[in-house]
Amino acid sequence: MSFTQIKGQNFAVSNLKNFIKTGKIPPAMIFYGPAGVGKAKAAIALAKALNCQNLGPDFEPCDLCQNCKQIDIKTHPDIIFADYAYQASLLKEEIEDQQNIKIETVRSLTNASQQKAAAAKWKVFIIDKAERLVPAAANALLKFIEEPPQNTVWILVSSKRETMLSTIKSRCQSISFAPLSTQIITEILKDNFIENDLAQKAAQYAEGSTENAFLIAGLLEDFASLDRDASFATQVSLTLPRTLAQARPKVNIILDMLLQKAHQNWLKEKDDKNKEKLAKLIQDFVFYKKALKQNVAPQMVAETALVKASISNIKIEEIL
Ligand SMILES: [Zn+2]
Repeated sequence: MSFTQIKGQNFAVSNLKNFIKTGKIPPAMIFYGPAGVGKAKAAIALAKALNCQNLGPDFEPCDLCQNCKQIDIKTHPDIIFADYAYQASLLKEEIEDQQNIKIETVRSLTNASQQKAAAAKWKVFIIDKAERLVPAAANALLKFIEEPPQNTVWILVSSKRETMLSTIKSRCQSISFAPLSTQIITEILKDNFIENDLAQKAAQYAEGSTENAFLIAGLLEDFASLDRDASFATQVSLTLPRTLAQARPKVNIILDMLLQKAHQNWLKEKDDKNKEKLAKLIQDFVFYKKALKQNVAPQMVAETALVKASISNIKIEEIL
């Protein structure tokens, strides 16, 4: 992973290259922006650029030296990428069971940050989904990001910076990552062997996030063989995964797509009465999104929302 592979983030990337150019590396940073726009990739590219033994002319890591290779495969002793996979392996748990970043994970990083670097010039600690740090973990991190040892960098990656503790935010330099254009998302999907029509449709509803786009493309494939008739909502609910953890993100995306469509229709609608109905429908979808966060069955939420959408003249076949 090098900077050139991060699409559509010229502003953020030029900021990062400028840190390397000037040698002024902020000790703690938050990379924030929508899910799936290249934040974690940029964190890895920065860790590589800081440690590459043959840094290229435009501060591009070489991808070939020992440091670059080890960082890429996440085996470098001084660069830790703490995501749910890292935490699951640390705590000997299943990845699917990870819901937040625990204090044990932060302690494992802070302990490593106090040890002498084994091979790197810069030690880099990356925390993915940093908005999911439990309060105790965030507090345990505070003093380490406030006074990190020399040549140590903390990068917190977050798609929900607004929900992070203000004490953490105030100690970090924030680097903004923009939503991606529909065109770039389509290209990324096609690079991942998703066919053109499907990629375009998924990109259209992805709100600038490749993570959303991949989820949507998956849903569109899951639902491709279903009949677009009165039983569609029930068929969707039966096609969804049975576990809460797997079904919830899918239904959340369906609700986001319905919300976008209802909003587009609301903008176009001239008749006051119909406009009011659409506003009510939008409120209902927002309510369903809240219900989904509680322990309501996602399958039931999806079915109810789709029935509601179709009786409100939302053309489901234009969405799913
Ligand atoms: Zn290198």
